[in-house]
Amino acid sequence: MIGIIGAMREELELLLDELVGAEELRVGGYTLFRGHLAGKPVLISQCGIGKVNAAALAQIFVLEGVKQLVLTGVAGALGPGLEVGDIVVSTDAVQHDVDVRALGYALGEVPGERLSWPADAALQRLALETAGALEGVKVVSGRVLSGDQFIANRERARGLYRTFGGLCAEMEGAAVAQVCSRAGVGFVIVRSLSDSADGSAEVDFRTFTPLAARRAKAVVLGMLARL
Ligand code: SAH
Repeated sequence: MIGIIGAMREELELLLDELVGAEELRVGGYTLFRGHLAGKPVLISQCGIGKVNAAALAQIFVLEGVKQLVLTGVAGALGPGLEVGDIVVSTDAVQHDVDVRALGYALGEVPGERLSWPADAALQRLALETAGALEGVKVVSGRVLSGDQFIANRERARGLYRTFGGLCAEMEGAAVAQVCSRAGVGFVIVRSLSDSADGSAEVDFRTFTPLAARRAKAVVLGMLARL
């Protein structure tokens, strides 16, 4: 069974509209939908905003028997040349807001863990192929940065890019990545850019999330069809 997680209703409702034989479950305070998309068995749920929500739902997916997981949705652009509507497929994910430097760890490093959690190579390839087939959409693959912060400041965005080399900032990916890595579940993050993580981010986020969510949905459906 393939798991699909999004943080916001807008990111998942388009996929839920297409779900065949939907069955609703309540587990640990989350609403999960089981069914078929593009003929494949899936489990879909909205985690809510931030790393704690994302990690809690990812663990439920692991316990429900999910073997591959796609986290989809929108993010703020950090990398040079990236614009609203572009798609980022994760190579790996880092928690940019983890700071145990006082004890000798690197910025972003959770003590006892790796600095970044790599995406599953096959899912990554599949996401890149599928997104690459969308007309007029730029697709890049690179590091995704996650933290419990909405990034809306150009200097901060530049600093994050310089420090970690992350191509986009969002609030859930690395948490899901950490849980999946521990459990041996393959994952990939597919984010469509809703804003540029700068002074216009608030307005752009609200304006462009519907477009970005449509693109993210197209990639997930295409991936499932090709699996
Ligand atoms: N929809 C809510 C809160 C949105 S928080 C509201 O408006 O009240 C932003 C969401 O979009 C998070 O799920 C995050 O993963 C993603 N996101 C998009 N742009 C972002 C940015 N610039 N910085 C951090 N997260 C961003």
